[in-house]
Amino acid sequence: MSDSAKEIVLTGIGVSQGIVIGSAYLVQIELPGAPEYVLPPDQTEAEVTRFEQAVFQAKEEISGLKNKSDGLPKMSSSEDISFLLDAHLAMLSDSRLIRGVRHKIVQEGINAEWAVGQEVALIAEQFRQIKDQYIAARCDDVFAVGYRLIRILMNVPYMSLGDVPQGGIVLAREISPAEISLLGPRSLSGIATVHGGVAGHTAVMARSMGIPAVLGLSPTALESQYNGATAIVDGVGGRLVLNPTLTTLRIYEQKLQMLRRDRRELQKLAQLPALTADGVEIVLRANLEMPRELMDIKASGAKGVGLFRTEFMFMNRDELPSEEEQFEAIVEVVRAMKGEPVTIRTLDIGGDKPARALSAYLSKEANPALGMRAIRLSLKETQLLCTQFRAILRAGYFGPIRILLPMVTIASEVRNARSILMECHANLLKEKVPLSSELPPLGTMIEIPAAALSADSLAAVSDFFSLGTNDLIQYTVAIDRGNDQVAELFNPLNPAVLRLMEFSIQAGLRAGIPVSICGEMAADPKFTALLIGLGIREMSLGFDSLPRIKQCIRSLTIGKSNEHARHVMDQYDPDRIIQIVRNFR
Ligand code: PEP
Ligand code: MG
Repeated sequence: MSDSAKEIVLTGIGVSQGIVIGSAYLVQIELPGAPEYVLPPDQTEAEVTRFEQAVFQAKEEISGLKNKSDGLPKMSSSEDISFLLDAHLAMLSDSRLIRGVRHKIVQEGINAEWAVGQEVALIAEQFRQIKDQYIAARCDDVFAVGYRLIRILMNVPYMSLGDVPQGGIVLAREISPAEISLLGPRSLSGIATVHGGVAGHTAVMARSMGIPAVLGLSPTALESQYNGATAIVDGVGGRLVLNPTLTTLRIYEQKLQMLRRDRRELQKLAQLPALTADGVEIVLRANLEMPRELMDIKASGAKGVGLFRTEFMFMNRDELPSEEEQFEAIVEVVRAMKGEPVTIRTLDIGGDKPARALSAYLSKEANPALGMRAIRLSLKETQLLCTQFRAILRAGYFGPIRILLPMVTIASEVRNARSILMECHANLLKEKVPLSSELPPLGTMIEIPAAALSADSLAAVSDFFSLGTNDLIQYTVAIDRGNDQVAELFNPLNPAVLRLMEFSIQAGLRAGIPVSICGEMAADPKFTALLIGLGIREMSLGFDSLPRIKQCIRSLTIGKSNEHARHVMDQYDPDRIIQIVRNFR
């Protein structure tokens, strides 16, 4: 920190518990406006040379990235990333883009940045008119290559997420789940972004990796002066401090020590049961985004996996994962859980979770959050579902599994999925593939208000329920879960949300099926007594939050929790509910 650097404190949404002090690494996502000018006639040759040097440097950068992606573990789809980078390299060879830019510099006498911008726009427009989804997806690649060239021409340094120094804190406009899934397990220590809401996927993934994160910050955080500055990400208080003073640093070092002590204490609970003070077990399972979390999940004392999000297998690649590849990924988790159940959710892609590999199946929609996604896509493109079911059923030979269907709206979706599951099972038996003779339990995510309100009919066709409160809140209050601008209204304690939850829990319990919760509400100790009081006896959450929730459970009784839940459910005023929950105990 230089003596003259002034401390600034930016407030945002703390989405991942923990504090980290480190060095800021600014991922420059937007370039300042590229210059556009006409060249003096004798300058065109020099401009072509300048452009060719930029092309050379771009190739060097991509080759460097390619070497890095080759070193990534198999699960990170390194081959597919490598394939994509090859496509970018090809675009920088004697391609239409390169020839077009050269032609524009020479014939129209314009500067290289302007020529690249124009040529990229032209090619992208032509691609779009072809109306082929595969070609349309190539537009992103043309833009990416164009951006790289313009950045080099403008001498803006190359800042890639893949280059974050060990322990660095990333400051970015936005980080997608696909980008996070590419990062090495311990490569970065903190995240601070301008966009993103409390239950968005960046938040969910940051939490699942145990990385302190603050989202929804002012764009001031992205000013170039902060690159390399000392930064504090306070995921507890929702603050980003840049250039902290010595006093601030001392305060945060103390907070950090307290957090570490707290964590060590909590870790001692790992092997103790999650029993309420009056002896009722609440089953705590883990949510799993990526297999690299397996070791941490085991160390947390989780009783199996309550939500295995399979989307990572489809991200950062152009081709669909084969049955074999999916089987390998799932069986690794099943084996590691050593007899504890693993709940595998079928593909929940579409809407806010895009995946290039599926672009041929997904068209552009005006309202993707309400469109072709999750179980709707699986039942439309049944070969996708069959491949997943076959991989899951095969993995089930190696340990107990359950299958969970995302974004279910009506009972017929569960019925149809079940008949496909039975058919896949019968086919595998015919093929003499080693298989459990019984079908695994098939459960339903309750995450759409219509599903919650018709939970009685869904309970009749489901073997278990899992409440996805992230989407249930989003669709009930019409608030995008990843949007920082309206994050205030993303309130789990909105009485409408609580009533839907109570209704579906009751319907499940009446039908005698297990009811679990796997949304982020399960990871917040503020809500634990309320959830237990509403009848929840199984929760699935990020491994990082599991010890704290266990500690909370061990201090509660069922009687007090029931009383608390009744008190909350008797209210209709959201502010009053917030107050009651805050003041509990
Ligand atoms: C949810 O919606 O609460 C949920 C657990 O699913 P996801 O966060 O993957 O959408
Ligand atoms: Mg969901």
